[in-house]
Amino acid sequence: MPSRHLIAIYPGSFDPLTNGHLDLISRGCRLVDRLIVAILDNTQKQALFSVAERIDMLRETTANLANVEVDSFHGLLVDYAARREANAILRGIRAISDYETELQMALVNRRMRPETETIFLMAREEYSFISSRMIKEIITLDGDVSSFVPQPVAGRLRTKFPADSKIK
Ligand code: ADP
Repeated sequence: MPSRHLIAIYPGSFDPLTNGHLDLISRGCRLVDRLIVAILDNTQKQALFSVAERIDMLRETTANLANVEVDSFHGLLVDYAARREANAILRGIRAISDYETELQMALVNRRMRPETETIFLMAREEYSFISSRMIKEIITLDGDVSSFVPQPVAGRLRTKFPADSKIK
């Protein structure tokens, strides 16, 4: 009999965490017993924030969500899912462009670990255009991203880029 205790992992870079990610976390955690938000520690990717900084921001932002845990992992997601005894992976879909890569990842993960099912949530309309990559681009051009990211992230960005007075 399959376990009825649902543990889901929401993996991603979260560099930085956006209001879109946060919406997915708050909607996702209502569907499962436990949601583990897991930051992929990818040393090959040039990151804006260190993994420790991203963990701090995620913990601060999700402190009010009792069944949400924040963690990081190296290597294959399915191996991490096995270690954490997770039976689901949560991912978000914003547009057709997400669908193609998400489909491929879900199929590969299912082949490697069939007992972990991928659950997709559609992005909310008002967040569907927000991506971490877009936030990084706006910051590089000295734009204001405070309406796209949670307050603790905007605060950290202000500290990291003190010259940018537009981050409120
Ligand atoms: P990755 O580096 O794996 O793309 P991200 O942190 O950018 O990591 O995204 C993690 C997951 O969150 C992906 O499934 C992505 O589609 C989803 N996601 C990202 N931005 C949003 C958003 N604005 N609304 C809903 N889901 C999103």
